[in-house]
Amino acid sequence: MLVSAKEMLNKAKAGKYAVGQFNINNLEWTKAILLTAQEENSPVILGVSEGAGKYMCGFKTVADMVKAMIDELGITVPVALHLDHGSYQGAKKCIEAGFSSIMFDGSHYPIEENIAKTKELVGVCEELGLSIEAEVGAIGGEEDGVIGGGEVADPNECKMIADLGVTMLAAGIGNIHGKYPENWTGLRFDTLDAIQQLTGNMPLVLHGGTGIPADMIKKAISLGVSKINVNTECQLAFADATRKYIEAGKDLEGKGFDPRKLLAPGVEAIKETVKEKMELFGSVGKA
Ligand SMILES: [Zn+2]
Repeated sequence: MLVSAKEMLNKAKAGKYAVGQFNINNLEWTKAILLTAQEENSPVILGVSEGAGKYMCGFKTVADMVKAMIDELGITVPVALHLDHGSYQGAKKCIEAGFSSIMFDGSHYPIEENIAKTKELVGVCEELGLSIEAEVGAIGGEEDGVIGGGEVADPNECKMIADLGVTMLAAGIGNIHGKYPENWTGLRFDTLDAIQQLTGNMPLVLHGGTGIPADMIKKAISLGVSKINVNTECQLAFADATRKYIEAGKDLEGKGFDPRKLLAPGVEAIKETVKEKMELFGSVGKA
């Protein structure tokens, strides 16, 4: 069932677990994640970046596909369809297309402009019953083309954005997108703790979930993280399983070239990754 992320995240925050946001790229990705969420009786958030939206022929195509798939597969666990790192224009387009949740990433604007734009979108989302995520302190890595430690958010700025009525808040705490470099110094738990102290019940979001050690994930959840974004890890698992299939020459045996066969190991690998993450985040059985 397609819902906003509000209730599932408030429940997660109160219950000290996190809901995974898994980014989708195509039909196979979407189906794999939805089926796993249903099998694990877990709430789930499907993330769509603006680039992935373009790739899948627009946000409306995505929203219609997800809704039809939920219907056709009989998915009864709560599913949020969420714009990941949306621009102001992208957020408006997703709202129109039928997404149930958006992220407006104004972290690259001066804080006053981030506040003004976030505030306007909070009003629109409130009226339509959608959830909205805002960001303070840019997250490093691919996001800005720089592989670095990631910016660390100012807890007071987090409080200002949280008070606008957003549903959930992403704050940079040294986390980055993509693979973590060898010299990464880890998450800034002091900052996360300060943010949680100031923002109270606000569900906090951890981006760049790929490659963060399990103990750090658990500590982050204990300090108020209720949504964790996973993207790269599913891509790596899919690519690895597909490469093995081809390297073993299976596409050359019989009808092994049939896309339904060729893509099957990758789909299974995504399902396995999603399942592992749901277990680690503690969302299994929480639908
Ligand atoms: Zn992100």
